[in-house]
Amino acid sequence: MQHTIKPEEHGPLGAPMAQAVEACVHCGFCLAACPTYQEFGQEMDSPRGRIVLMKQVLEGTLAWADAQPHVDRCLGCLSCEPACPSGVPYRDLISPFRAVGREKAVRTPGEKLRRWLAERTIPHPGRFRLALVGARVGRALGRLVPAVLRPMLTLAPAKVPAAVTLARVTPAQGERRARVALLAGCAQQVLDPDINVATIEVLARNGVEVIVPEAQGCCGGLSWHTGNLAAAQAFARKNLDAFPADVDAILTNAAGCGSAMHEYHLILRGTADEARAKEFERRVMDVSVFLAKIGLREKPRGAAGGGQTLKVAYHDACHLANAQGVREQPRALLRAIPGAVVCELADAHLCCGSAGTYNLDQPETANSLGAQKARAALAALGGGEGVVASGNIGCLTQLRVHLEKIGSPVRVRHTMQVLRDAYRAEKKF
Ligand code: SF4
Ligand code: SF4
Repeated sequence: MQHTIKPEEHGPLGAPMAQAVEACVHCGFCLAACPTYQEFGQEMDSPRGRIVLMKQVLEGTLAWADAQPHVDRCLGCLSCEPACPSGVPYRDLISPFRAVGREKAVRTPGEKLRRWLAERTIPHPGRFRLALVGARVGRALGRLVPAVLRPMLTLAPAKVPAAVTLARVTPAQGERRARVALLAGCAQQVLDPDINVATIEVLARNGVEVIVPEAQGCCGGLSWHTGNLAAAQAFARKNLDAFPADVDAILTNAAGCGSAMHEYHLILRGTADEARAKEFERRVMDVSVFLAKIGLREKPRGAAGGGQTLKVAYHDACHLANAQGVREQPRALLRAIPGAVVCELADAHLCCGSAGTYNLDQPETANSLGAQKARAALAALGGGEGVVASGNIGCLTQLRVHLEKIGSPVRVRHTMQVLRDAYRAEKKF
């Protein structure tokens, strides 16, 4: 697309944004893949429409406030990327655009408060745990809580799991095949600490030594996707320093975190740490990719104690499937469980509506998408017993909430939990 953007006017992120705009040929193939185009049915809420709006803002011919509602409605799910025949790197546009426009955004005091609370709590496990306990009080107050904060209460679990302290080093079982460092994930270790426990057990059973660096922090994804570049850079630098060089891989088990860590080169673009970020990214991979690469040494025994069929409705987290191109590896690991049948969801490319803090900021759209995804998961299971699996804590939380809303007892588990339970031959669903 032709444009008159002057990249140098927008700092180090100007050039990638201009290149993304340039790559778009306005063909519209991405429209059918976009969940918000499906929800709102208008061009301005499609990838192509948003690219035009962002181009005009960057050119200086459109006010930020006119583009903001449509940019805010973008999930950042990147479903538009694999659908685009021209290879438009939409990710190089949307988060940088939010970052350069953060100061110009027009928000109500309530919206500012909600963003402030999310940014100050979710990336910090201690604070987030306290906030979730506080949410119980908030729920008791009901309608006395301001409307802008109520989505936070809906998503907070009724019971916060006990905190788990992970060993700094977990030795490999049997002969050591590899040594990895694991990102523990800030929200994940509070909402479902068992995911890390399961991940470490699965890795150790397969001959992998796992270290959990003490000085690590949030991946920075929440800050990056909400346009807080300074905070995202601080988190990225902290992790560049915290993770050692003498490991075979840096593993993530939360798709959103893995995706953000793969964007450290963009987050730190134009800084002294850019080269270090590129080197770091090369070693980051999702745990499913790593396990598929080295192969399962220990064969899972079977999730229901052997001999039974286990239906697993696998939900592709957008930040795993679209952002990292990881689709087959988690399915292959699940299929390795004796008796497991991986069931595909209809409209699998559509986001579940979690998308970082999207279900807090855009609750109506998020609820609509969450309800659709919960129904699709149940349909995939054919209405019978089974489990819903995914590789991202945000998706797992969203699916849990929406399955509960429709009264379904089906459990939602991380892929590593399903695999770990299969090793132990435990029935957890
Ligand atoms: S499919 Fe790609 S090139 Fe075509 S309109 Fe969408 S983003 Fe632009
Ligand atoms: S990131 Fe998702 S919501 Fe945003 S334009 Fe692309 S497909 Fe649509």
